[in-house]
Amino acid sequence: MVEIKTEEKVKEGSIYGQITSLGHEQLVICYDEPTGLKALVGIHNTVLGPALGGTRMWNYASEAEAITDVLRLSRGMTFKAAITGLNIGGGKAVIIGDPSLKSEAYLRRFGRFIDSLGGRYITAEDVNMSTRDMEYISMETDYVTGLPEVRGGGGDPSPVTAYGTYLGMKSAAKKAYGSDSLKGKKILVQGVGQVGKHLVSHLTKEGALVLITDIFEDRLKAVSKEFGATVVDPQDIYDLQMDIYAPCALGATVNDDTIDRLTCDIIAGAANNQLKDEEKHGRMLLEKGIIYAPDFLINAGGLINVYAEFLGGYNRDLAYLEAEKIYDTCSAILDKSSKENIPAQEAAIAMAWHRIQSMGKVKLSY
Ligand code: NAD
Repeated sequence: MVEIKTEEKVKEGSIYGQITSLGHEQLVICYDEPTGLKALVGIHNTVLGPALGGTRMWNYASEAEAITDVLRLSRGMTFKAAITGLNIGGGKAVIIGDPSLKSEAYLRRFGRFIDSLGGRYITAEDVNMSTRDMEYISMETDYVTGLPEVRGGGGDPSPVTAYGTYLGMKSAAKKAYGSDSLKGKKILVQGVGQVGKHLVSHLTKEGALVLITDIFEDRLKAVSKEFGATVVDPQDIYDLQMDIYAPCALGATVNDDTIDRLTCDIIAGAANNQLKDEEKHGRMLLEKGIIYAPDFLINAGGLINVYAEFLGGYNRDLAYLEAEKIYDTCSAILDKSSKENIPAQEAAIAMAWHRIQSMGKVKLSY
């Protein structure tokens, strides 16, 4: 069985402690005095191919927090790529600072750092980074994807992410109810941003009873008006009666407190790192009989989209076709989970590792 290494096992304060515990190949520290750029690139595993993952810009409270974030996120990308059948490894970058610091020089300097890695890491957009920012980065390196459509890129990956999440949810419904129809199911979508909004569209089209929550009133009003979803207050949502909980805002919302309160049959959403502690909370969900559709699998549509763009000759239909595979993969994981009585997240990680290890052996011969 594959050991799941959680943050709790990471030795505090030691960079090598974290890298060895989480299994990283490389952590790159970048600094540029003229622009003030401070960035970290985490390269977790490149057995399947160059590491691909977005750049997140965040005003981290400490350097330690930024290091933990880049290591945790890049590791997640390894599993996401592997389970989705893509020939890429896992990586991620974080830029430390307020998004208002961004300028052409700042982003192009970042692009040069990416270029200096010679293709071991390919970047794309993530939190607080836009397709426009990718354009600046692309002036200095070819190792970037997620460019605007007008520049021949794949544009916003969120619709593909939402589609994959929707299919993952349907696969979980099939496991829970014997039918993958979501008609009449009460589904709470937490966060109606880029992905959540598109997910709500799929769900309402299918006749689900959709509840939505967000911290932005205007966004809630707009989505409610467009799709006829019912608005609920972000407070106390975990006590609501619902069939499916779809976290599409923050990580770690599935934890000691919320698992006790949740009475849903399924958790399936797009947010990254939904389980506060993969091992502990994955096991708690299994014991409580809540079906968990692994986040890194069902939100892989965005990665599929940027990977399709990086391969060249971007074709959105092809990206959607690839994302459709999420349904069957999710079914296989949920079956493995019930058959072996192991948490779905653990089953998914084991499946991802299995592919990495088998492909590593394939590559041994020339
Ligand atoms: P987004 O920023 O567009 O939307 C997130 C929404 O969540 C916002 O509307 C925000 O106001 C809301 N929110 C924040 N805190 C909240 C709270 N406490 N309660 C309720 N709502 C809250 O982000 P997005 O691109 O839609 O991504 C959503 C999630 O999916 C993120 O966790 C992201 O990492 C993950 N994800 C996104 C993609 C993608 O293609 N965009 C791909 C994979 C994973």
